[in-house]
Amino acid sequence: MAVPLHLLASLLVFLLMVDAGRLIPCLHIVCLMESSIVLFGPPGAGKGTQAGRIVEATGKPQVSTGDMLRAAVAAGTELGRIAKGHMESGGLVPDDVIIGLIKERVKARDAENGLLFDGFPRTVAQAEALAEIAPVSLVIAIEVEDESIVGRITGRFTCGGCGSVYHDQFRPCEVEGQCDECGGSDFKRRADDSEDTVRARLSAYHEQTSPLALWYEQRGLLHRIDGNASIDEVGVRISKILPE
Ligand SMILES: [Zn+2]
Repeated sequence: MAVPLHLLASLLVFLLMVDAGRLIPCLHIVCLMESSIVLFGPPGAGKGTQAGRIVEATGKPQVSTGDMLRAAVAAGTELGRIAKGHMESGGLVPDDVIIGLIKERVKARDAENGLLFDGFPRTVAQAEALAEIAPVSLVIAIEVEDESIVGRITGRFTCGGCGSVYHDQFRPCEVEGQCDECGGSDFKRRADDSEDTVRARLSAYHEQTSPLALWYEQRGLLHRIDGNASIDEVGVRISKILPE
């Protein structure tokens, strides 16, 4: 029995459409995704605040691998289960898990404007992997001298009563030893904020990111921003190099 020609033609059109449907998401990732931005800086350099401003100015959603890992673990995805095993045994989550999460993230609809990567990549190997996944057009390194960071972090203390945050130098209590907000006098300093801990974190940071900065510098993507200024001034410096 002969199949009518118009049925064959309809079938062909249908198959082509299915194929196009498969192709479009792929094009969307590889070709249509706008350039992403990478932001790095030492702990205590005000990276979080500046990241928020970059998101506002560029519309590129912020991607933090820490948040992505927590979300994947909470959602119980396969990558989340693998990550959880490493986190519970106190080990580092391997690169292929992190890269896998980023590969998923760039497929989301809001990634077509490009993304703001915060705290990723941390190593040259990760930067090489990222280059295969998402085009990066700008890398911002906020630079603050170690001495200044140590001063910023070790001076912090919080009110045990209401949680207000103070700083020996930058935001002291109006009346020494008494919280401005609740009048309490029970102040706490985090053990994380001790000078030795901060110095250890800084030296790990320098060891890790120096090669990364060089790698991006050689590709003409690195912009060093002097972070030794007020939050607003640093924000203005960054806004001058952001893409339109
Ligand atoms: Zn208080």
